[in-house]
Amino acid sequence: MRIALISALFLVSCTGDRVARAEAEIQILRSDIADLEANVEVMTRALKRHQAHVSTEQMDRNPEGFDANKALPKGSSSSPDVILLSIDTLRADHLGAWGYERDTSPFMDQLAASGTRFASTWAAAPWTLPSHATMLSGLLPPNHGAIEDHLQVGKSPMVQEAFAQSGYGTAGIVSTLFVSKRYGFDRGFGHFEDFEIEGAAMNNASTVDAEHVFNHGLHWAQQQDDGKPLFLFLHVYDVHFGYNAPPPFNEKFDRAAKLGDPIYKDYGYYQRQPLTPEQLQHEIDQYDEEIAYVDDAFRKLVEGWRASGRNVIVAVTADHGEEFGERGSWGHAHTLHKEQLHVPWIVNGKGIRRQVVKDRVGIEDLPATVAGLAGVPFPAADGVDRSNQAKTGARPSQGHTSGRFAETSRFDTLRYRWHADGRDLIVDLANAKRGMCDLRSDPGCKTNLYTKKGDPARGDRLFAEMMVYLGDPWEAAEPGRVDVTGGFIYAGTERHRKQLEVAPGDRFSVHPADAIVKFTSVDSTEHGPYRALGGELPDVDAPLGYDGTKAENSSIDLTDEERDMLEELGYLQEEG
Ligand SMILES: [Zn+2]
Repeated sequence: MRIALISALFLVSCTGDRVARAEAEIQILRSDIADLEANVEVMTRALKRHQAHVSTEQMDRNPEGFDANKALPKGSSSSPDVILLSIDTLRADHLGAWGYERDTSPFMDQLAASGTRFASTWAAAPWTLPSHATMLSGLLPPNHGAIEDHLQVGKSPMVQEAFAQSGYGTAGIVSTLFVSKRYGFDRGFGHFEDFEIEGAAMNNASTVDAEHVFNHGLHWAQQQDDGKPLFLFLHVYDVHFGYNAPPPFNEKFDRAAKLGDPIYKDYGYYQRQPLTPEQLQHEIDQYDEEIAYVDDAFRKLVEGWRASGRNVIVAVTADHGEEFGERGSWGHAHTLHKEQLHVPWIVNGKGIRRQVVKDRVGIEDLPATVAGLAGVPFPAADGVDRSNQAKTGARPSQGHTSGRFAETSRFDTLRYRWHADGRDLIVDLANAKRGMCDLRSDPGCKTNLYTKKGDPARGDRLFAEMMVYLGDPWEAAEPGRVDVTGGFIYAGTERHRKQLEVAPGDRFSVHPADAIVKFTSVDSTEHGPYRALGGELPDVDAPLGYDGTKAENSSIDLTDEERDMLEELGYLQEEG
């Protein structure tokens, strides 16, 4: 660009056209200013992150009066404790137990080797809020409704409530906004700590690290009565971008991070500024170092717990994975490929069989399974209770397949994934693109079978089946026109962009489910706006009916600071 401008300048100077020469100079100056502005932006971000780290180091995020050596109370003689750990953003294939060549996870590998490892576990969403809602309720996103950042978890039961009803002491210790009180995740926990994460400085710099989370959990357990069984849900954010493990883990696989390293603010930035192979490797090294750090901290917690003589079942999983450029993009939340959806799941404890379960399972199976292992009744909901399988190895007899559905509508995407009949269908509704692959012969899902040369009839069949699963909840009672904002209309499998003329009895669906629906009668009377999630639904007299999932999610208005934070995490992007 610069060279082109200089040559342009050379040409105009030859003609002696002073005006053109001045204009060319201005152009060069403008280009220099733009470069400078970009540099200033990058440096400001680096400085902010650095300041956040400095302020954290001065802050003690351990609980007041915490003593790591204080004894735990006596456990229950009849019910085991349950510790459920969610390691945000941990993809399965970066753990030794899943074949990773690096020593990232010696402790988790040991848990896997002496317990049940669900080798093929699929998350139902590639980002934190919907995936945790599934992990704790057993409902897939269309049924729990927490599919966008303005929606809290719905009113459906969560597993911690079942533990509380069964006489368990319950605590949730979490380290990011999307699993906090703000989104309704404190429901059912006797004790809940979200560190009042409200701002970017705390959240994005991982100021609450895994040890703080574990120490809070341990401190809470130390205060409980003798004989009471405990359910402890722990969520750690260390493995989430930006990766920067504390020493000595920060140099385990590579040099430590330093001020001046490229700052990748969001996933779009990665795409605009492609990484060199060295930078990419450094990112992966840093990611792996965070895994090693969390693994070691968790080892200390569990070993201490078991040394106290308490009987404890440990479950480890993740809400989603992380892409490192395999599909030409970075991070998570925007695609439904394996890098972003294949997560670890291990259960370990007394009575749990040493085995590798190769069946495809879903994160929606987790709550009923974990509750079942402790003898706590909890409905399987959209999942399958695999507690008996974890104990005996016997396959569950229930009907539906696990890990069958995933969705995302982040960054103006609109993607669904459907698994049935040995195939995986991935649909991009926003761009009307469809792909299908066979993971058994093509584990990376690289060959699209939804083509003329493949098996398009099968693809059509799967697509139709998925649309039936999603349903056509809207029905017109009068002739008129439907307008949808922030999404698309489908009548069965037929896509209509924003508008649909309807006759009485016509049914349709809107995607995503929180898109805004309006109806205009033939006499031009407008009805609505309606919103199936987080908004108003039509009443009985309206010309439009709604008969679908009512997850009753409350809508929230994010503060400016929350918006800034989510934007910095890559969860929000500027329009366009
Ligand atoms: Zn997450």
